[in-house]
Amino acid sequence: MNTSAMAVSVNADRLLARHDAMARHGATPLGGVNRPALSAEETRARKELVDWGRARGFACSVDPIGNIFVRRPGIEVEALPVRTGSHLDSQMPGGNYDGVYGVLAAFEVLETLEDNGIDTLVPVELVVWNNEEGCRFSPTTMGSAVHAGALPLGQALKASDPAGITVAEALAASLQELGDLPRAELGSPSKAYIEAHIEQGTLLESQGLSVGAVTGIQGTAQFLIEVLGQEAHAGTTPKEKRKDALRDAIRLMEALDAAVQTDDDLVRFTVGKLDVWPNAVNTVPSRVVFTVDLRHPSAELFDRLVASVKNVCASASVACQQTLQSSPVSFDPAVVAIVEESCAQAGLGTARLPSGATHDAKYMAELCSSGMIFIPCRDGISHNEREHAQPRHMVDGANILLASILRLAGEATGSSACK
Ligand SMILES: [Zn+2]
Repeated sequence: MNTSAMAVSVNADRLLARHDAMARHGATPLGGVNRPALSAEETRARKELVDWGRARGFACSVDPIGNIFVRRPGIEVEALPVRTGSHLDSQMPGGNYDGVYGVLAAFEVLETLEDNGIDTLVPVELVVWNNEEGCRFSPTTMGSAVHAGALPLGQALKASDPAGITVAEALAASLQELGDLPRAELGSPSKAYIEAHIEQGTLLESQGLSVGAVTGIQGTAQFLIEVLGQEAHAGTTPKEKRKDALRDAIRLMEALDAAVQTDDDLVRFTVGKLDVWPNAVNTVPSRVVFTVDLRHPSAELFDRLVASVKNVCASASVACQQTLQSSPVSFDPAVVAIVEESCAQAGLGTARLPSGATHDAKYMAELCSSGMIFIPCRDGISHNEREHAQPRHMVDGANILLASILRLAGEATGSSACK
């Protein structure tokens, strides 16, 4: 890498202006956005981005599931691209930074490379993943899952929203608004992938850091647990005769909580939903169904914790149905190191951290060398109209994204740092 590129920084004013421009699409009174996937509001945001890309001379295209690609060519025109991006859809309503920050930071990287005439060895391509949030159409991270082959295209296109509109119908209507956009093939390979995103947690903020190097995405398992007892009169049934399903469920929850504790304080154990039958003030409960949501970033520990939940339920002779298994994903240590080196070079402190939420990078990590860059968000608040990130953190994150992409994509005048 030559010294001219090392000194290059993103255009902070332009990045923040583009953020304000995007925030108008689906703006809510509390400062957030309501921009579900393929809605009129998200379509306007997609169109604005494509218009910016066309104005800069970047090649824009869309694949069959609606992922949008904005490409700046490399010296090696046919080489696999380094990809970067995130999503423009939001929760209903949601915040102004989740997803859109990673898209705009990536676009700013493309523009900065263009402004400075920096030739990368391989193409650098922004991806706007379709339907990351999954709140209008299920499942979440639909666009990246189809791209990775983890979700069949036909199944995704048939998914419908509460009004009965399918993804296929909404996508066709949305694409009409985007003008003549060339079609990209589904699942085209990448050299590497790196995504910038708000942390949606409090670690960076509590440590006063502006950028984090994300090590992976924690695993999530969910369970539905049913405890049975016997209905009885609350006033007449003595203690030894009671088969109280709620009392037994509470003891079971405590046993489960104790069984999944680890020394690292990284386990997340939540009982978030509880249903009681007959749910009457003067009847001993006969049936309780509750959920467990269990998360941990280490693959080895995660499997052990999942087994612990099943074992505790089995030894209590209680029915336990696992409803979700999403194993932890580890990002490529080489990409994590590139983010850290870029921070060191920029004089920015950083920390390694796992992601508590899922992201499109989860599917990209199955396909190529991948990683993520986090910036703090105020009080860790996300999926909320009050979500907020500081401008200086947004700029720092975009600069680290730029430096990392230069290392991954290689510079024409230097050597590629990417394996
Ligand atoms: Zn997101």
